[in-house]
Amino acid sequence: EAAVELVEERPHRFRIDRHGPMRVPGTVFASRALLRDAEQSLQQVANVATLPGIVGASYAMPDIHWGYGFPIGGVAATDVDAGGVVSPGGVGFDISCGVRLLAADTDGRELEPALPTIMDGLDRSIPRGAGPGGVWRLTGPGQLERILRGGSRYAVEEGYGEERDLTRCEDGGAVADADVGEVGGRARERGLGQVGSLGSANHFLEVQRVDEVYDETAAAAFGIAVDQLCVMIHCGSRGLGHQICTDHVRAMDGAMSRYGTAVPDRQLACTPVDSPEGRAYLGAMAAAANYGRANRQLLSDAARRVFGRVAGTRLSLVYDVSHNLAKIETHTVAGARRRLCVHRKGATRAFPPGHPDLPQDLRDVGQPVLIPGTMGTASYVLVGVPGGDAFSSTCHGAGRVLSRHRAARAVSGQELRARLEAAGIAVRPRSLRALSEEAPEAYKDVSEVVAVSEAAGLCRVVARLVPLGVVKG
Ligand code: 5GP
Ligand code: MN
Ligand code: MN
Repeated sequence: EAAVELVEERPHRFRIDRHGPMRVPGTVFASRALLRDAEQSLQQVANVATLPGIVGASYAMPDIHWGYGFPIGGVAATDVDAGGVVSPGGVGFDISCGVRLLAADTDGRELEPALPTIMDGLDRSIPRGAGPGGVWRLTGPGQLERILRGGSRYAVEEGYGEERDLTRCEDGGAVADADVGEVGGRARERGLGQVGSLGSANHFLEVQRVDEVYDETAAAAFGIAVDQLCVMIHCGSRGLGHQICTDHVRAMDGAMSRYGTAVPDRQLACTPVDSPEGRAYLGAMAAAANYGRANRQLLSDAARRVFGRVAGTRLSLVYDVSHNLAKIETHTVAGARRRLCVHRKGATRAFPPGHPDLPQDLRDVGQPVLIPGTMGTASYVLVGVPGGDAFSSTCHGAGRVLSRHRAARAVSGQELRARLEAAGIAVRPRSLRALSEEAPEAYKDVSEVVAVSEAAGLCRVVARLVPLGVVKG
């Protein structure tokens, strides 16, 4: 197969010209260095450009890498009122996987002596690993349905957080359009035993210190300052979201031909947003999104209890945002307001200042964007900018360069743990093998990724956080 050709439009922005069945061009925000070995994922950008109803371009963020059907780091919007499709592969298996950042009311240096005790407390109270086990033992299927409808709002109502948590969570903590009836039996079964759990290796709860602030105004509005201690949580909707993706990919794969849709890769299975299959997927996806938010809310509560007990420290929510989601949003396209289904897969929504969906206290500043890097380097807080591109989206992480298998071969868990501990980073892994799969060398340079995202006009960098301790799935 011929290599996908990139035309440099301007620094940090490349175009894949329309060819073959592509309906729109590809737009890739990156540097040449970040695109080393990106051949397969660039082909995926071109494949996504063939989807019915796609508008503008098939976009790729600087942390692009290969994914199921769509690349990870991909953004695609389809016109709902012109037969635009929704594709589960454009959301990914971990529906509503996302990041939440909490800020402590004490600074990092004051808390440092208590850190080992805090890490031991977190180690005991944060459920993780591939199997079942969570903060909540559900009383029955009725309670699961309340989670699927209520998201973190339900968790807060049950006493696992404060009202302010909801204003600082995307969608106020819950999306309204969850259709619990479209969540299958197997998905429910898998979801029952995992409410309030991290999951496996790429998911984590990390204690961090704010190392540098680049934008004082935004940082102050978000509630973070230099030296402040923070907690970052990265997890999603566990087996429930995975099963929903599996079920609906299968349903769409079977139904697609009825809508006359042909895609270059079966993993791009899709049907119109406005079709029974499209509506069913979006309703189930929304339920999984609520599950993901409740999950992060319960883990926040577990962390708050540890910090409170050990050090009398309070943690306030900075923000909670997904990086695997499809949303119906209104955007201006070629001068007209259009209802779009915006798929962000391994990409983060980054609303600009003034956006009506932002909470009042963030309205003038823009939406916080939370970017995990690696457990050995840094993570970032960004903010949405006026005129941001790709339907107000930016990167979601550093992006993988080594497969799990190759990462585990490159460095042993023992070696890695010793290296991190020597650098002053406390490690509480579930398994050493899982730790090595997530070694810093398995990822691109997160500082380069966020610098390129900013230079490409997708966002602005607000602060850099460094790890002090990591609880790994
Ligand atoms: P994904 O959602 O694609 O699995 O992961 C998002 C990002 O999380 C990755 O691209 C990587 O940069 C980051 N990441 C993975 N493990 C860790 C970790 O232990 N700590 C931090 N800070 N970031 C991580
Ligand atoms: Mn995930
Ligand atoms: Mn994720």
